[in-house]
Amino acid sequence: MTADELPFNNSFAELPPAFFTRLMPTPLPSPHFIAASSPAAALIGLSVADLARPDFVDVFSGNKVAARSQPLSAVYSGHQFGVWAGQLGDGRAITLGEIATPTGPMELQLKGAGRTPYSRMGDGRAVLRSSIREFLCSEAMAALGIPTTRALAMTGSPQPIARETMESAAVVTRMAPTFVRFGSFEHWASRNRETELRTLADYVIGQFYPELQGAANPYKELLAEVTRRTARMIAHWQTVGFMHGVMNTDNMSILGLTLDYGPFGFMEAFDAKHICNHTDQGGRYSYANQVPVGHWNCYALANALLPLIGEPEAAEEALDVYRPEFGRQLDTLLHAKLGLKESRDEDAGLFDRTFGLLQDNHADFTLFFRRLGELKVDEPAADEPLRDLFIDRAGFDAWAVEYRARLRQEGSIDAPRREGMHRANPKYILRNYLAQTAIEQAQNGDFSGVHKLLAVLERPFDEQAENDSYAALPPDWASHLEVSCSS
Ligand code: AMP
Ligand code: MG
Repeated sequence: MTADELPFNNSFAELPPAFFTRLMPTPLPSPHFIAASSPAAALIGLSVADLARPDFVDVFSGNKVAARSQPLSAVYSGHQFGVWAGQLGDGRAITLGEIATPTGPMELQLKGAGRTPYSRMGDGRAVLRSSIREFLCSEAMAALGIPTTRALAMTGSPQPIARETMESAAVVTRMAPTFVRFGSFEHWASRNRETELRTLADYVIGQFYPELQGAANPYKELLAEVTRRTARMIAHWQTVGFMHGVMNTDNMSILGLTLDYGPFGFMEAFDAKHICNHTDQGGRYSYANQVPVGHWNCYALANALLPLIGEPEAAEEALDVYRPEFGRQLDTLLHAKLGLKESRDEDAGLFDRTFGLLQDNHADFTLFFRRLGELKVDEPAADEPLRDLFIDRAGFDAWAVEYRARLRQEGSIDAPRREGMHRANPKYILRNYLAQTAIEQAQNGDFSGVHKLLAVLERPFDEQAENDSYAALPPDWASHLEVSCSS
């Protein structure tokens, strides 16, 4: 297949014109291929080699429009940091169309392909640094089994882009069944435009939640299902230590996918109050706050859907699924992380004490769970690599006594438990310093670091002994790394 033959459908473009603006991407000078994701490419029947060809580079840098593509940018609004922000919209994202796959349609969207009517003060571009972060993290999250938008390919251009310093331009081609957000609904609700609100809800239900069509109140069921998916997504985030950084309602996917990778981070030295976004001074989106904020965002969606749902009580009922759904998913994931097959009343206490121990010692989140898988029930003397993660050795020892007793209660056997835990606790995550190292290399024209890191992160649970260094604690220089909203 050539890029021109990409079999695009354009279901979103069939909505009334108020939902979007048709426009052409703005070309970039001398675009070049940077990277592509093999598993993402496979979803639409392509390979990395295809995506590296000049015809695909032209289409995925926005320099050429494929024959069946109907490019558009969508309008949305949203709450930013808890405050109503009014109209936002795709300020630098341009949807090309959807491609049918065995698991449903996948929309392809260029991020950084030029100004749109929703760019406000922005330049419509994305820089190489932030594009590498979004590209790598999207694919890392997918490999971790966490609901996310995908990153298909990344192209670059020498075009200078002004941020805190001058950087160069890049375009990430993202993929998701849809990029409709909570803010897409808030947009019409805030304008009392019930017709458009209903049209959008019917589109989302018809395309992505067809099973809700027969329900007595499909809009209530939509809210309930989105709330459940959001709760589950956030339970996944909490159990790998992922922090989104900008959980504004315009960054919340109506499919419960992790969306818009900006100043995200993975927890290293555990601190529940950790804030990964340097710009978020109040810590609204800190690790611990992600859980209540997810609920708050669903509440904002509920407010927007209320005219369709009708009764406030029905909306409340739908919202009430958040806590129990989050609790169930978290419980399942934590049992897997601790290698517990059975569920017992006292487990909640054990989980609390586990996180309390991590908090008191600021132990590395990923290394802790990974090394925990190596624990031998009857050999405390072999705990040393795990125990080394704690300053308070006596505190660890007391915790380990409780954990071992719990393992013995269910007759846990070391080898299969280790195997199961290594499927639940990744060895490799996208640590900031790893991203930063690959970015600096890329800024010097060498993309091999991006390729290598992508390959490692595509198999986060595998031992990959030859790549041990990618699982190491951050070096000293990395303790000063800061990520902000600038992208
Ligand atoms: P974010 O918080 O990064 O998801 O972005 C919030 C809003 O700002 C969205 O409407 C984006 O499309 C827009 N935006 C962010 N960066 C740019 C940019 N460089 N040019 C145009 N719009 C942007
Ligand atoms: Mg956004």
